[in-house]
Amino acid sequence: MTYDEIVQFHGHECPGLAMGYRMATAAMETLESFRAEDEELVAIVENDACGVDALQCVTGCTFGKGNLLFRDYGKHVYTIYCRSSRLGVRVHFHGNEIPEGLREDRNALANWLMSASNDRILSVTQTSIPEPEPAKIRESIPCAFCGESVMESRIQQLHEKPICIPCYEKQQKFDQNTAAGTDTPGS
Ligand SMILES: [Zn+2]
Ligand SMILES: [Zn+2]
Repeated sequence: MTYDEIVQFHGHECPGLAMGYRMATAAMETLESFRAEDEELVAIVENDACGVDALQCVTGCTFGKGNLLFRDYGKHVYTIYCRSSRLGVRVHFHGNEIPEGLREDRNALANWLMSASNDRILSVTQTSIPEPEPAKIRESIPCAFCGESVMESRIQQLHEKPICIPCYEKQQKFDQNTAAGTDTPGS
């Protein structure tokens, strides 16, 4: 996918997308040196902002395939990991050399980010991490309250019954209100 196609996929051009594109591209360039063709990649992203759309296009790691993992750390860090070699690269966007005043102009910043050299905006380090669990098909069981089937790993227990998360939260509110003797659910 070209950068223009990625912009179309994302829906707009923005500094975040440019940032993610540069990070993902830098990671892939570094990975190529020790990666064989068909080896499966896993990406771990430490934020869920615009740039992750670029990462999905560049690396092929997507949420739907289960090889894109989100860690909610609020950091500009992507780690791309090759399953077979157990080696990966960690890309940190530091933006150290973004010129003064450029941050206020989103278009100019986006353009600048696309043309800056890697070392002015990010760092790439090689890393080895314990292998992330492969995506697997889990059994589903029906929620005792709404009857809809739920992945086993997401089932909660309430009054010794299996229950889905939304029902669990609703029921908890109801129990609290009942205990306080004030309210009825939905009111
Ligand atoms: Zn965006
Ligand atoms: Zn339910």
